[in-house]
Amino acid sequence: MEALVLEQKGVLSLRDIDLPLELGPNDVKIRIHTVGVCGSDVHYYTHGAIGSFVLREPMVLGHEAAGTVVEVGDKVDNLRPGDRVCMEPGIPDLSSRASKLGIYNVDPSVRFWATPPIHGVLTPFVVHPAAFTYRLPDNVSFAEGAMVEPFAIGMQAAARARIVPGDVAAVVGCGPIGIMVALAALAGGCSRVYVSDFSGEKLAIAGGYHGIVPVNLNERSLHEVIQSETDGWGVDVVFEASGSPKAYNGIFDLVRPGGAIVMVGLPVEPVSFDVPGAIAKEVRIETVFRYANIFDRALQLIASGKVDLNPLITETFKFSDSIQAFERAASGRPTDVKLQIAMEGEGN
Ligand code: ZN
Repeated sequence: MEALVLEQKGVLSLRDIDLPLELGPNDVKIRIHTVGVCGSDVHYYTHGAIGSFVLREPMVLGHEAAGTVVEVGDKVDNLRPGDRVCMEPGIPDLSSRASKLGIYNVDPSVRFWATPPIHGVLTPFVVHPAAFTYRLPDNVSFAEGAMVEPFAIGMQAAARARIVPGDVAAVVGCGPIGIMVALAALAGGCSRVYVSDFSGEKLAIAGGYHGIVPVNLNERSLHEVIQSETDGWGVDVVFEASGSPKAYNGIFDLVRPGGAIVMVGLPVEPVSFDVPGAIAKEVRIETVFRYANIFDRALQLIASGKVDLNPLITETFKFSDSIQAFERAASGRPTDVKLQIAMEGEGN
């Protein structure tokens, strides 16, 4: 089957590759329609590794996907051929200790699409467990369906923050995940969310959403803004979504006493931070690794119309132009938020 294959660091090809498509009794076979290009896919392309996950043999990219069910296994009764769906890309071992605790995202044996050595889904068909496949309501497009995966990370961050209605939050970093976190925090009840970055272009896009207050770090510091707008008290929650080690300098000065810091962005190296500063305020520290038990909620929120992710989809490429899509993503155009690849030209 044809697929977008990362052969090795920096080398992509669109070629035939053998992919397993046997349908187990609890699986569905899906014709892929739309796949989002994720920062992690791009990082494997440009660096060949993320932390301990190292590309050792050719791997199909793509894990943010939506499509149509074409076949269902004998024991599947919640989905049928023709259903439009999106898929949660991690397949945990449901009998693992982590799964039994409900934290299947940190199951060490989880098989996650496009994380070496597991193939992704930039290819026409995939077989996936029905339990991790979600029907799209009629008013949710394939393009939005493919946005559920990154939005689920924002949702997980908002859930970990334990937001209380009216909370004020700050998000460090205005990449796609930073914006998703801000939108999830607003949907979770935040009254306003400051989002900081050095990219005026990305801040302009984020600032288009009601409730997001963009902070351009070329002009003023986030600390200065929060100090003046909260009378020196600090925000209830700070989400770190840049992954920059520097972002941890002074992060506890942003949060109010008893507030929370939620670490979402993944730094490429260990980071040191101000433990005395955290203790003095009894700050609660949370971390986010993907998501668990949140995909359907993310989808329902999109379907409700409370969260509109369409303004974040910058451009859609044809499958035959997948390599160009990745080159474009790797070039880091400041006005790009999310690039997507559509397998079929017609409809969404
Ligand atoms: Zn992703």
